Amino acid sequence: MKTAILGGGLSGLTLARLLHEKGTDLVVLEAEPEYGGLCRSRTDKGFTFDIGGSHIIFSRDTEVLGFMRQMIQGNEQQNTRNTKIFYKGRYVKYPFENGLSDLPAEDRFFCISEFVKTLVAVEKGEVPAPQTFRDWIYYTFGKGIAECYMVPYNEKIWKYPVDRMSLHWVDGRIPRPPVEDVIKSAIGISTEGYTHQSVFSYPLDGGIEALVKAIARPVEPYIKTNFRIRSITKQGGRWLISDGVETIEAARIISTIPVQHLIAALDDVPEKVRKACNALTYNSLVCVNIGIHGSVPDYSWLYIPDPTLGKTNRVSFPSQYSRHVAPSGCSAILAEITFQPGDPVARMSDEDLVAEVTGMLAEMGLIVPEQVVFSSVEHQPFAYVVYDKQYQENIAIVRDYCRKLGIPLVGRFSQFEYLNMDGCIRSVLDFVKTYPA
Ligand SMILES: Cc1cc2nc3c(=O)[nH]c(=O)nc-3n(C[C@H](O)[C@H](O)[C@H](O)COP(=O)(O)OP(=O)(O)OC[C@H]3O[C@@H](n4cnc5c(N)ncnc54)[C@H](O)[C@@H]3O)c2cc1C
Repeated sequence: MKTAILGGGLSGLTLARLLHEKGTDLVVLEAEPEYGGLCRSRTDKGFTFDIGGSHIIFSRDTEVLGFMRQMIQGNEQQNTRNTKIFYKGRYVKYPFENGLSDLPAEDRFFCISEFVKTLVAVEKGEVPAPQTFRDWIYYTFGKGIAECYMVPYNEKIWKYPVDRMSLHWVDGRIPRPPVEDVIKSAIGISTEGYTHQSVFSYPLDGGIEALVKAIARPVEPYIKTNFRIRSITKQGGRWLISDGVETIEAARIISTIPVQHLIAALDDVPEKVRKACNALTYNSLVCVNIGIHGSVPDYSWLYIPDPTLGKTNRVSFPSQYSRHVAPSGCSAILAEITFQPGDPVARMSDEDLVAEVTGMLAEMGLIVPEQVVFSSVEHQPFAYVVYDKQYQENIAIVRDYCRKLGIPLVGRFSQFEYLNMDGCIRSVLDFVKTYPA
C-alpha cells in the first residue's frame, strides 16, 4: 500500500517522517535536484544564504516550536529580535504602532490623532464594518498609520492593491496591539508587539536547511529528487504518477506541491475547477544576497515601505542570527523583492538586481559599495499566497474537487494558505493523526 508524497519541501518531508514512524511504506517525489523547497540554503565562498527568503524559527504553537527546536538541538542559536522599519531615514521600532515615538513629530501626531479619532468613530458606530483589507487597515489603525506604513508596505510586499484583497486572514497574522500600547509608544514608553516572535531560533550551521535536513534524515532513502510530476492518472484503483520518463505507482497520494501544478497534472479536470485554480493569486520572489567585508548594524531585519528606495520590501542580516553564516570579518545581507508574474523584475538580469540592491543599501547608509565581496541571486516562483477578494470562492472549488478525487492537500501552496513553517508542521501533525498507516 505505497503512499506517494508529492513534493519534498518542509511539509512533504515532515509528512514522510511522521508517516514512516507509523510504518507507512512511502516515496517522496521532488522536482528539484535537492529537497527542502523554500527552506533550502546555499553555501558559497563561506556565505550561507536561505534561498527562499530569510527564515527564522518561531511559533505560538508550543508543540510545533518544541519539535522544530528539538530537530536542531545542538545546532541552535537563540536571538532577540531587533527589527525596524526604515522610514524617512529613521529606524522605527517594529511593529510600527510600537515605534511611534521614533517618528518625526508631525507624523507621530498624525498617527496618534487619527488612531484615536478612528477608535471613537468606530465606538460610535460611525464607520462601516470593513469589507476589504484596505478598509480593515483604516478601520483598525486610522488614516495616519495606514498611510505612513501599512498601505505602502503591504502594497510593496503583496504587489497587489489592498482594496482588492480580502481581510479574512489578518487576525493573528498582522500585529494588532492594545490601545494602551499605541498611546504609550507615541509618548515614548517602550512596549513590545508581536511578542511570540521577539525571541527566535536559527541553526548555527547550514542555514534554515539544517532544519529540513534534520527532519528528513530518517526518510532520506525514500526521497526521489529530479522527479518533476507532469501527469497523475488513476487506473484500476492505483495512481500512476509520471515525470514524462518514469512512472511511479502508488495506492495513495498526498499532495504538498502547488495546487496549480497538481491540477495541471490531472486528467479531465472540469473547466470550472481549472478556471478557479488559475484565478488563485500568488507572488514570486527574488532574493539578492550580498556579502560584505565589515559589520552591519545590530538589526535582525528591516522593512522598507518607501517606494522611492526601490523594489526591496525587506532586508535581513542573517549573520546576526548565526555568526557561522559568513566568513570571519564579514557580514551577510539578504534583500527580498516580491513580484507578480509578468512584472519587469522578472526580466531583470542578476547584475541589475545586485546593482539595484547595493545602490539602495548605500543610500540607506548601511554599506559602501567597495565593501561588497560576494553577491548572488535566487528566484522562487511561489513565494506568498495573495488573498484576493475571490480567493475563498476559488479555493473552495479546488479543494472540493481534490477531496472528491481522494487527494489530500497539505502545505503552503497545496492548501494555498499563508502558512509559515509552524503552520505547515501543524497541518501535517493534524493530518497524520487521522491518516491510516
Ligand atoms: C520570503 C519568505 C520568508 C519566509 N520566512 C519564514 C520564517 O521566517 N519563518 C517561517 O516559519 N516560515 C517562513 N516562510 C514560510 C516557509 O518557507 C513555508 O511555510 C514552508 O517552507 C513551506 O513548505 P512546503 O513544503 O509547504 O512548500 P515548498 O517549500 O514550496 O515545497 C513544495 C515542494 O514541492 C516541489 N514541487 C513543486 N512542483 C512540483 C512538481 N510538479 N513535481 C514535484 N515536486 C514539485 C517544490 O520543488 C518544493 O520542494 C517564509 C516564506 C517566504 C517566501
